[in-house]
Amino acid sequence: MKIPFLLRAAIGLALVQCNAAALAVDPLSYAHPEQVKTSALHLDLKADFAHKVLAGYAELSLNWIDRGARSLDLDTRELTIAKIEGQDPDGRWRKLAYTLDALDPEKGRALHIAAGGQPGKVRIWYHTAPTAPALQWLTPAQTMSGKRPFMFSQSETIDARSWVPLQDTPSVRFTYTAHIGAPRGLRVVMSAENDPKASGKGGWSFNMPQPIPSYLLAIGIGELQVRSLGARTGVYAEPQRIQSAAWEFADTEKMVEAAERLYGPYRWGRYDMLVLPPSFPIGGMENPRMTFVTPTMIAGDRSLVDLIAHELAHSWSGNLVTNASWKHWWLNEGFTTYVTSRIVEALYGEETALENLQLEQEEALALLATLPAEKQALLTRDPDTSSEHYTDQELAYPKGAWFLRTLEQRAGRAVFDPFLRGWFDSHAFQSVTTADFVRYLRSGLLDQHPEVMTDAELDEWLYGPGIPAGARRAVSPRLAALDTARAAWLKGDVQTGDLGMDWNAAEWMKFLNDVDKVATRAQLQALDRAFHLSGTGNSEVAFRFYRAAVHAGVQDVRPQLEAFLLNVGRQKFVVPLYAALHARPDDRAWADAVYRKARAHYHPETQASVDRELSK
Ligand SMILES: [Zn+2]
Repeated sequence: MKIPFLLRAAIGLALVQCNAAALAVDPLSYAHPEQVKTSALHLDLKADFAHKVLAGYAELSLNWIDRGARSLDLDTRELTIAKIEGQDPDGRWRKLAYTLDALDPEKGRALHIAAGGQPGKVRIWYHTAPTAPALQWLTPAQTMSGKRPFMFSQSETIDARSWVPLQDTPSVRFTYTAHIGAPRGLRVVMSAENDPKASGKGGWSFNMPQPIPSYLLAIGIGELQVRSLGARTGVYAEPQRIQSAAWEFADTEKMVEAAERLYGPYRWGRYDMLVLPPSFPIGGMENPRMTFVTPTMIAGDRSLVDLIAHELAHSWSGNLVTNASWKHWWLNEGFTTYVTSRIVEALYGEETALENLQLEQEEALALLATLPAEKQALLTRDPDTSSEHYTDQELAYPKGAWFLRTLEQRAGRAVFDPFLRGWFDSHAFQSVTTADFVRYLRSGLLDQHPEVMTDAELDEWLYGPGIPAGARRAVSPRLAALDTARAAWLKGDVQTGDLGMDWNAAEWMKFLNDVDKVATRAQLQALDRAFHLSGTGNSEVAFRFYRAAVHAGVQDVRPQLEAFLLNVGRQKFVVPLYAALHARPDDRAWADAVYRKARAHYHPETQASVDRELSK
């Protein structure tokens, strides 16, 4: 995922010894995978847009591990259960008794099913709530055409349980099939095999032959068209957006090929993308076979396609080799951030990759400056006692990548690249912990090349604050030239019109980061007149310009800023902008008024974050 929404609460973890093998217990799930694991799921659901519910049944195929186990504990949130049945060995279905625990605000409600014996399959009839946090039901007015409704899911991190009763932990993987009913005229897509030629007559059928963790279950329903981009790649979007989306993502097939050259075969069949309406709360979600992306990445100049590289990279790091619980999040996102920069380099060259890397590292250091020391580790040192000491969700991206980059720089690519590919190959379709990686790092790299990293430094990366002193910072000559130009411009020695005529998006982002809270109101106004930053289609550049403008008290961009806040639902952009506006007495009432208009267009996760920010 890029960029993450914050988890509901601190992530804790308990490690227990089980059958002599260390088994990571997921504190965010009620499931007991040490007793029984779901091996396959079948969904038979109907989408009811009038009531904003999915209704039908989920059938779980079970692999019983503990011979004494007689109950199945599942995760649910806001689900209404109608009936549960189990299948006996003779094939007969039998009604099962069950209880639903009281609501835990963080984890939802545990569903305890009295299985009697050890049924091979369990069927749960249920329907979702209109307020299910994973599902966003959009009215026709909230779509581009304004004619048809739209619905999409966002299951990561622990919201799959709000649309399917299941073992909602990334330590359990299952294949799935689905049959989904939807109103005529709407197309259904899922994180599964999607047939671009399907008509939907008699419902939409899906098969996901590779085992996935629950957070990668995904569904989207809307007025969708599909365009092929290559032999294995395509894009789905609303009719009004399909052409711009197909143009923006034209390099996708080449990206898959570049990633394969680095990290081995793409193991998921097709790589398609679904462009969502603007309320999608994050940049992209790596749902296998069908990445979900924000429309804000359609910049009109292909300047944000590294977001696609990021989601594609998850086909190796995250989807193929998965963090066993959310405490090990850096194994998904830190690895993916590293792999992304390698794909970008392979496709767009060293200079572009270096610019992105320097920007990423600078933003990591800026983020570190805002975090207390105990939130700066990739992983906490004492996992069994530290429920409130958790890895900061955003830092795991650049810090994890910086750690891998450091190993790569010291070992050399001739050693490091096969090492990393071997990690993906040897742990394919498995869920892993940090301890698994450390074991692999020792046997696959450090035992042969102890000079690459000392134990003390390895500990510092994983458990310590900040960035270890021995880490090299990326330095891009093009970005270094910007420093000189910026300093001269701030002093008034360089005219605004002489800046940035040939700057790319990364260069503008760097410049705007560095003039934030430094440039005056007049300087930012002149910058906007010369380069129309408030009207740019590149949302990353626009966001950084508005942030600096708000800090400097530039109020004449309010119409454009209001349009941005109304049209963009990404938390990464809107939360800091509301926070900056709210911190200024002159802007507070205006920000509140904009938010009153915009709130209904945002995803519930975004609403909750902005509510929190504005109540400070
Ligand atoms: Zn990601």
